[in-house]
Amino acid sequence: MRLILSISVLLLLGMALPSAAPGRRPPGTQLKTLVIDPGHGGLDPGCNGANEIWEKTVTLAISLKVGKLVEDSLKDIKVVYTRKTDQFVELWERANIANKNKADLFLCIHCNSNVNTTAAGSETYFMGLHKTTGNLEVAKRENAAIKYETGYKTNEHYGGFDPNSPESHIIMVNFQTAYIQQSLKFSTLVETHTQKISKIRSRGVKQAGFLVLWQTSMPAVLVETGFLTNVADRNVLKSEDGQRIIARGIFNAIKQYKISLEKSKPADIKQDTPAKGKDSVAGH
Ligand SMILES: [Zn+2]
Repeated sequence: MRLILSISVLLLLGMALPSAAPGRRPPGTQLKTLVIDPGHGGLDPGCNGANEIWEKTVTLAISLKVGKLVEDSLKDIKVVYTRKTDQFVELWERANIANKNKADLFLCIHCNSNVNTTAAGSETYFMGLHKTTGNLEVAKRENAAIKYETGYKTNEHYGGFDPNSPESHIIMVNFQTAYIQQSLKFSTLVETHTQKISKIRSRGVKQAGFLVLWQTSMPAVLVETGFLTNVADRNVLKSEDGQRIIARGIFNAIKQYKISLEKSKPADIKQDTPAKGKDSVAGH
């Protein structure tokens, strides 16, 4: 009821929602094109790891390592990056790159942050209604990256999205419903495989409204690889070795996901209805 009221209020306020992404495709049974999206970049540094390292540096390093593993070992997958250097890319453009390339999977890599420096662990998100305020806070922090974009308030791609409004985060969640089943599957694989080999523990699979995932027409996830505000996680995230192990875990998930997709028949892929929240599917 509250959600309906919130949506009604937004509509009354004249918030024009963009229509669903063009060329919306049914969930596929192949993984031919992977778009890897290293979070932040350029003038948007992401979160600060105790002045030792910035999020944008870690996300790029892990993303390039994941991509290299895929390019070397799964040669039938085409890898596309939203950025390969320290470059600012607007959120809508990241989703646009995935849609334009008809990606079969969209993988966003990020790092978490919290004022409570004991908070630690990785979590993988897909689009859905946040179950806890903690999940909403993560999405709000990541979505606040649009403040670095000049003219975001009038950018038609965002349909009046307000990073400070909880309603804006709720109203996004129905745009990825066709891909919930596959996004959940891949999210679970990421948490399972990274936890097996990394020192960073898993906090599980979660849902929230992320602007970067919003209008993508394929299974799409956002991995919070660990907390840059936690000393133990940070030491893993800033080290070459730690990044390599996380990348290997994500790569193992991609490989497993590809195998399971190819085994499934089109009839096995359901057109999902909106999820009610699947927190901690693989977590503790
Ligand atoms: Zn981020």
